[in-house]
Amino acid sequence: MGKMATGSPQIANPARLDPSTPWSLTQLLVKNQPRYMMRLIFLGPPGAGKGTQAALLAERWQIPHISTGEILRQAVADGTPLGIKAKSYMDNGELVPDRLVIALIEERLQQSDTKRGWILDGFPRNVPQATTLGELLDAISQPCDRALNFEVPTDILVARMLGRGRQDDNETTIRRRLEVYLEQTEPVIEFYRQHGCLTVIDGNRSVEDIHRDLLVALEPQATTHS
Ligand code: AMP
Repeated sequence: MGKMATGSPQIANPARLDPSTPWSLTQLLVKNQPRYMMRLIFLGPPGAGKGTQAALLAERWQIPHISTGEILRQAVADGTPLGIKAKSYMDNGELVPDRLVIALIEERLQQSDTKRGWILDGFPRNVPQATTLGELLDAISQPCDRALNFEVPTDILVARMLGRGRQDDNETTIRRRLEVYLEQTEPVIEFYRQHGCLTVIDGNRSVEDIHRDLLVALEPQATTHS
């Protein structure tokens, strides 16, 4: 799928910065670390730790962490038309209709901060969403580099979700979200395996250990960007 350049990462040269690059020169000089072009899809059941890992990598690489769940929760909190439509599905642990989340992601991926990449967390959630995302990425010439599947045993997932205290983290909803995951989202793993861009991550470890593994797996193969 994506273009993964090999070779050792280069330190970014501020003088060669594209003026449209969203991060500031100060930020670049302070961080002074290689700039990676990275487009990733994070897969895995609810509670697998995708959001935590996505946030860490997004911060390190200064690319947006796009969580459809977060965007939807914000829309509900703000009482927007999207939030009003999505709320009951979310409260019941069901998927929000595809046309709503696809429209949301389509708009988000066209914002200017996505030029050097993104991490999608919680999208796609079913095979039709995965197919539509593929078409959309082709159309905007933003091929995905990798899909990472975070594997965690179910009893650990339930314990983690009960400990999070989110509004949709009560026992009934958790059970339903796991069922929906098995029925609709798990087939997406196979979809990316067949596309040859799937990497499996053991998510049943400490945040630090997983983060370290992700850096080892992703950074040496990434395209650096200056
Ligand atoms: P998350 O934070 O990813 O666990 O998502 C929370 C809730 O938002 C899910 O239980 C769904 O109701 C909804 N949601 C998030 N992403 C999607 C998606 N890609 N498709 C449909 N519904 C979604």
